Amino acid sequence: MQLTAVEIVRTLQSKGHQAYWAGGCVRDMLLGITPKDFDIVTSAKPEEIEAIFDHTIPVGKKFGVILAIIDGHHFEIATFRSDSASSDGRRPDAVIFSSAEEDAQRRDFTINAMFYDPVADKIYDYVGGQKDLEEKLIRFIGEPEKRIAEDYLRLLRAIRMKNTFQFQYHPDTYQAVKRNAQYVTKISAERITDELGKMILSPHPRTAFEEMEDTGVLQILMPEMVAMKGVAQPHQYHHEGDVWEHAMRSIEALRNTEHFTQTPSLEVHWAVIFHDIGKPETFKVAEDRIRFDHHASHSARIARAIMQRLKFPRRMIDHVAWLTEHHMMMVQLIDMPQHKRLQWFHHPLFLELMDVFYADAAGTEPSNQDIYEKILALYRSDLADMPHPPEPLLNGNDIMELTGLTPGPNLGQLVADLHEQQLAKKLLTREDAIAWVKAHA
Ligand code: ATP
Ligand code: MG
Repeated sequence: MQLTAVEIVRTLQSKGHQAYWAGGCVRDMLLGITPKDFDIVTSAKPEEIEAIFDHTIPVGKKFGVILAIIDGHHFEIATFRSDSASSDGRRPDAVIFSSAEEDAQRRDFTINAMFYDPVADKIYDYVGGQKDLEEKLIRFIGEPEKRIAEDYLRLLRAIRMKNTFQFQYHPDTYQAVKRNAQYVTKISAERITDELGKMILSPHPRTAFEEMEDTGVLQILMPEMVAMKGVAQPHQYHHEGDVWEHAMRSIEALRNTEHFTQTPSLEVHWAVIFHDIGKPETFKVAEDRIRFDHHASHSARIARAIMQRLKFPRRMIDHVAWLTEHHMMMVQLIDMPQHKRLQWFHHPLFLELMDVFYADAAGTEPSNQDIYEKILALYRSDLADMPHPPEPLLNGNDIMELTGLTPGPNLGQLVADLHEQQLAKKLLTREDAIAWVKAHA
């Protein structure tokens, strides 16, 4: 892909245009990170770009952005432009084709606004990006207040970039984010969700959430999360502090590289953030200790409400809510008979639930990871006995024929019971199953 990106620049230049790599890929290259994609900027106008490359899609032609598909890779090739002020703080109303320098000025942060000519091996830095990169600074280009008002997404991008690269904020940038936090309401739910997803998967989700909290952004996006602050936990089991502190330590635990060889799923991350979000409303000082009865189902309900509000994809909502709802299963699993445990162990999301268990245990002090290890040992030995759920000895139709039952709860129950008998290895053949169904219908 990188070689193709060099060729694109060479081609454009050979036709007399200026052409550079731009933005994120230049930043990543200077940081020694392999860029995910290469964006190209050029003095060529959209029509000229389309004429030069065979396979193009006018994804944002109005804004001067053409997608070119070359050697199977996608490249955004954009004409130098300056955005005219937007009237609603979302998208520019129009663009004006302009120069490289002006194109740099319209970008968000200094480290994101450098260009690189891979043919001449030359960096074009109109905004002091290199210096800030060395200093590890996230700094708005120009006047922070104005830049935020042009596009309120930049409030979240500042926090995301800082935590992705483990940088620091320029104080003027941070203060401006703080002063303008209330405008996150102007960003579309989809763009918010996308940024939050990148933040939570960044190397430092904990500080991303802490900074969202400190700036006031979190209070607006997810007040339910802020409500975890200052909610005491039973000191017998939680020396780490309040519910918020526990959630923060748990999300941090997903970065324990000695435990996770690859990053857990986005859904696991959200479930870890939400797993105890039902604790504030279930808090009770009981006779023996502080209790949060049935908090897991409260957490799942609140998590759903948050995710629906932020327009998470439907399937993701169900997935995260399932993990959240069942995060208290651990102890019960230990005491279950094997055939019941197997139903959990065969669940397609079980290993993700284990990730949530792990984070929850590792985020607790003193850590109760020995229970986690016990479950893991059971999981391995049970699955060695029965790696997959067995093929049903009888299906629903067979059972209806044998019993005269019609589809409904009774039939469903019988199918489930039969499955359990099979898992317990009490029924081994079709004949066993027929006899059992006749006796239990
Ligand atoms: P990554 O792709 O790793 O998230 P990136 O910096 O490439 O980081 P993109 O969203 O792909 O981010 O945007 C590409 C470039 O476009 C940025 O580097 C920046 O120069 C510019 N840019 C993106 N979004 C904005 C914005 N909201 N305001 C101003 N400039 C932006
Ligand atoms: Mg990018």
